[in-house]
Amino acid sequence: MKTAIAERIEDKLYQNRYLVDSGRPHITVRPHRSPSLNLLALTRVCPAKCYELNQTGQVEVTADGCMECGTCRVLCGANGDVEWNYPRGGFGVLFKFG
Ligand code: SF4
Repeated sequence: MKTAIAERIEDKLYQNRYLVDSGRPHITVRPHRSPSLNLLALTRVCPAKCYELNQTGQVEVTADGCMECGTCRVLCGANGDVEWNYPRGGFGVLFKFG
């Protein structure tokens, strides 16, 4: 008798593929002296862990691996901390098993 094996979310996300559009990131962080609270929150809430706090205290984004969930767009798009666009056609995430 087979038993169902519960998959972890990391195992499911690993199935996705991402095609990098070199030199044309679809998300950028506006230059800032000190990050806003929402910008700092992105270092914790981005499911793909695209946001990091660097050694000079600035939040950086590496859009490779972005799942286009829109969380950062909602949190920081309206106040201008983040400029967010969809990747060009043919680039970005390719979902395999949703
Ligand atoms: Fe992360 Fe989602 Fe923003 Fe992509 S859209 S960088 S996955 S929060």
